[in-house]
Parts: sequence; structure tokens; C-alpha cells
Amino acid sequence: MGANFRPETLSELAARGNVAVRCACGHRAVIDGPKLSRYFLAHLWDGRLHLVQDRLRCTRCRGKRVRLGLTFDQPTGPEWGPRSEREWKELVRRLRG
Ligand SMILES: [Zn+2]
Repeated sequence: MGANFRPETLSELAARGNVAVRCACGHRAVIDGPKLSRYFLAHLWDGRLHLVQDRLRCTRCRGKRVRLGLTFDQPTGPEWGPRSEREWKELVRRLRG
């Protein structure tokens, strides 16, 4: 982890690596950074990290006391979201109606 790297937005963080999610319950997960960033862009959600945190839940305790950070670890956990360019296009089309 970069010593002094303090990203303010998801896209800044995702340009460097993946998203480490740490919960107050002790659970830790890693989310694919570029994919999460693209997902937020597709939804036109605000990518400021404190707002991103509010949209994420811990997969273990279902709590929302999570903190985000940069990691170079591989993503953990179940596959989520679009898996191909076609699915991305379908998602955007659905969202834009
Ligand atoms: Zn938790």
C-alpha cells in the first residue's frame, strides 16, 4: 500500500488497484477496483469514498461499518455484476431506460 496515498474517489483508488473492505466486525474482503468503479459510473453514483462506503455492506455481519482502502490483493468473494461487455451494455441500457 502506498504510504501517503489517500484517494478521495473510487476512480482514483481503482486506477491503482483493488478495493480492500474492512468491517468493524473484523471481516475483510477485496473487491475488483476497476469493476466497482465502472459499476458506480454506470449507475451515475457518487464515487467519493465516504459515499461509496455507505453503499457497501459487510457480507458477514450485514453491517455498514466498513472502511475502504487500496490493496494489490486479488478480489475475494462471490462473482457479482456484469461478466461481459454485453452484460455491461445491458445494465446501462436498463438503467438509462
Ligand atoms: Zn462485518
